[in-house]
Amino acid sequence: MLKLTCPNCGVTGEETEFHPGGEAHLKRFGPGSSDDEFRDYLFQRVNPRGVHFERWRHQYGCGKWFHAARCTQTLEVFGTYTAQTSEIPQNIIDAIKSRRPDWEPEA
Ligand SMILES: [Zn+2]
Repeated sequence: MLKLTCPNCGVTGEETEFHPGGEAHLKRFGPGSSDDEFRDYLFQRVNPRGVHFERWRHQYGCGKWFHAARCTQTLEVFGTYTAQTSEIPQNIIDAIKSRRPDWEPEA
């Protein structure tokens, strides 16, 4: 069972208390963008086997969105941080690298 800690209210719960919101840190494209950029924004998602950054909502708690870094193979959670954080926090990167020394953040 995947357990997450909401960084907004501090509650730790099983994944059924939360609602997944897809990939985190998407670069949004809107009016003025090319068709390819807009298509990629709408439909192209990474589906890694390993470290992944995701959006989650604390559906049966505070109701707020946050980001989680976790491993898709082992369900290990490296950390969570607020949805207002546009860059991956250094403490999250450090937590991942301590467990996955070969992992590199994408540019
Ligand atoms: Zn919460």
